[in-house]
Amino acid sequence: MTNPLYDALVAPLASRDTASLIDATGNEISGKALHRMAMEYASALTGLGVKPGDRLAVQIEKSPQALALYLGAVAAGVVFLPLNTAYTADEIDYFVGNSGAALLVGDPARADALREVAARNGAQFQTLDGAGQGGLSDLAAAAEDFTPVERRPDDLAAILYTSGTTGRSKGAMLSQSNLLSNAEVLVREWRFTDADVLLHALPIFHTHGLFVASNVLLLAGGTMVFLPGFKLDQVISWLPRSTSMMGVPTFYTRLLDDPRFTRDLVGHMRLFTSGSAPLLAETHRQFEDRTGHRILERYGMTETNMNTSNPYEGDRRAGTVGMPLPGVEVKITDPATGATLPEGEPGMIEVRGPNVFKGYWEMPEKTREELRENGFFITGDIGVIDADGYVSIVGRQKDLIITGGYNVYPKEIELILDEQPGVLESAVIGVPHPDFGEGVVAILVPESNESPDLEAIRSALGQSLAKFKQPKHIALVAELPRNTMGKVQKNLLRNEMSELFA
Ligand code: ATP
Ligand code: MG
Repeated sequence: MTNPLYDALVAPLASRDTASLIDATGNEISGKALHRMAMEYASALTGLGVKPGDRLAVQIEKSPQALALYLGAVAAGVVFLPLNTAYTADEIDYFVGNSGAALLVGDPARADALREVAARNGAQFQTLDGAGQGGLSDLAAAAEDFTPVERRPDDLAAILYTSGTTGRSKGAMLSQSNLLSNAEVLVREWRFTDADVLLHALPIFHTHGLFVASNVLLLAGGTMVFLPGFKLDQVISWLPRSTSMMGVPTFYTRLLDDPRFTRDLVGHMRLFTSGSAPLLAETHRQFEDRTGHRILERYGMTETNMNTSNPYEGDRRAGTVGMPLPGVEVKITDPATGATLPEGEPGMIEVRGPNVFKGYWEMPEKTREELRENGFFITGDIGVIDADGYVSIVGRQKDLIITGGYNVYPKEIELILDEQPGVLESAVIGVPHPDFGEGVVAILVPESNESPDLEAIRSALGQSLAKFKQPKHIALVAELPRNTMGKVQKNLLRNEMSELFA
């Protein structure tokens, strides 16, 4: 009997007496206890009639039990489908309907609305709260012994919906070997061992917190400090007991804003990684000045897990996402023709490897558009590879601005804006314009207590950019709209400003 993901991530827990998880209050959960919980959830799922290959949709707060439910689904061969806790019942309706889930597990506080959603879509409903309590945990507590079911490497382990940054979320079908191959590579590349204690403050409904962080630590046999979310005080108090942390860029900017975040506090840490959204080169430098650590930035997405990473040993370059991981091919192509572009030219990032997903769930057309027959996935990100093989992300193709027939990449303008005195950060978007098709608009967030000199900024832009790239309008806002993963929601900005030139 084999079940590759179970065998690699879950089975080894059964003989582990030391802590696999530590919760925010310092409670330790041994590997053995986590294994037992996972088996109980697997048994509870099976008891409810959820079969191998069925989809299990969950919208629950992060907790050790939530992780055990994921591991139980792996053992039971059930396809795990985690959902953002911020989604409304209407949004959940789409995911449950689209995936044809057999069971929806939700927070008891929203049970009424979610039970209806489940019923409307022919799914069962169970509850589990942030403390690990609810109808499903009651069933788990009363569960029988469980024998893991057999799975092939190509069987689906999860359907993970994309973040919906550029349009409607799509369900990426991820097989056992997609997940396992990536976890194996990351453990090796980032040197994770059973001595590691990872400060885990990411959500576990997203690839970063679930597959990058949790799978890697489970495979390495390490320990996770499993915090329900990113709370500055909590993170600062747990850092001295950790060896590593995986974060989104906003974690690092928030830490840098706090005077308690010092070199001493992180003296014995060995690794900070960043991803899910671009890390400003400026943040990278400030972080090194403050702590002596160079953040290791990497690049991935729901459909592929991780594709590139800066080196563990060697030069971690600010503003780049490093080189392709072993086994992953990355090429830059002409978005119009698909032809490979010469080194140094920006174009579409395409990736191929054992990490690349099986397609979008029940979206054959979307799959055909984005996943080539030769296995290359068209990521939708524009990037460039330099002579040393380092990849930099220039932006998303959907954020490309076409003004008067010219292509403008927002990043080029944002990099200049971010360096101007009084500017904390910026977003550049295209807004419908009667003469130019789209007009370039810059949105600036001032540094606290400063009002940037817009005239000086205009003249700085005028010196470094062609006329068609210069913003036709500059707006000031207190902060940029971001989703839970720290991604700037340019679609919201575009909507807000859509009438600007009308
Ligand atoms: P959707 O596909 O639904 O529009 P999404 O692409 O934001 O949403 P995710 O799969 O969560 O959904 O995010 C992957 C994207 O995040 C990548 O395609 C890339 O644009 C961005 N990203 C990830 N890591 C980095 C990074 N280090 N630097 C810049 N961008 C990154
Ligand atoms: Mg995407």
